[in-house]
Amino acid sequence: MEQIISRCGNICSECPWSMFVRKKIAKEDWEEYSQQIKTYTGYKPVKFEWEGCVGCHTPNDELPSHPFFNFLKKCRTRKCGQYNEIPNCAYCGRFPCANTVASDKFTKEKVSEKLGKEVSDEEYERYIKMFDSMTNLNDIRSRLKDTQIKNPKLVTHKREIPELMGTFKNASFKFVYDVLLAIANSNLGIKGIDTVSGLELYKEREEFFWRFLWLIGIFGNVNKHELNLDSGTLYDNRKPISLPNNEEGWNIIFDILSKFGIDTELEIKTDKLYTPGGYMRAKIPKTNEPAYLLKMKTDPKLQKYPFFKGLNEMLLELQKNSEKRAFSNFKKLNFTSILE
Ligand code: SF4
Ligand code: SF4
Repeated sequence: MEQIISRCGNICSECPWSMFVRKKIAKEDWEEYSQQIKTYTGYKPVKFEWEGCVGCHTPNDELPSHPFFNFLKKCRTRKCGQYNEIPNCAYCGRFPCANTVASDKFTKEKVSEKLGKEVSDEEYERYIKMFDSMTNLNDIRSRLKDTQIKNPKLVTHKREIPELMGTFKNASFKFVYDVLLAIANSNLGIKGIDTVSGLELYKEREEFFWRFLWLIGIFGNVNKHELNLDSGTLYDNRKPISLPNNEEGWNIIFDILSKFGIDTELEIKTDKLYTPGGYMRAKIPKTNEPAYLLKMKTDPKLQKYPFFKGLNEMLLELQKNSEKRAFSNFKKLNFTSILE
């Protein structure tokens, strides 16, 4: 069978989630094969009986209706490859861009280091290579001619921010508003926002940020220039966003906040912070206790007024005046209901 490479460089035709592999491996060998995949990658494939992924080159209207395919529909690298009409990122003039989901987590060296033993060529080929996406893409790229490489078609994005039709009732609200405006007008740490993958990542991050700012403003415990918020409260009120899966994910958010004068650190409350599958917990297992605490403080340039207190008062007032529309108004930076 001809090798099928996903937009981000995985080998679909050898992927344990695919329908292709389900045709090659007998049902009675599936459990052992799945266990080996879990040993080398940390992920256990979906059971043999499932129909299997049809691969990310399948157009949206031909994807089966199973919820699994929602992740393919949302994949920013798939959308970017489709928009640019290229088979995968190796054919792109921006490769390797900062926003591709291709990863270097599954190189032979990194998996050997993680397992504490040298992975053989045979083990790598059978259980790992299909996910060694960056290596696979680099390999494809090395065989391409310059004429086969295309620059991505650029996209533009402008956030619409309503004009202030009035004044805030105090200087502290205006101070908070200016910080929110600076955040809204930034790229939220995304490089390459002019490509489909960059813009998709920006939209995801934007969704996260405004919900996150709302949660710290409404639920945070404020003490002058400091604010604490526990992961349990964040988790219970997070929807429609998901919390970062690991500390690395949080650090990306903290780096962005620090550009606006907010320094944050995590205080871990448990030695069981991660699930066996490698996801960060919000609550300590079998309890309702938070697994970590977000500790935030404003740096001196953001201390002209108590920022967190101002944010809290502003959002409570917005809630009172805009009721059900309060969060959606906040996201749009529409503060009309609290202006004088
Ligand atoms: S899960 Fe990803 S790599 Fe696997 S078959 Fe589907 S698109 Fe390809
Ligand atoms: S811009 Fe990035 S994600 Fe999009 S095709 Fe190019 S390398 Fe891939």
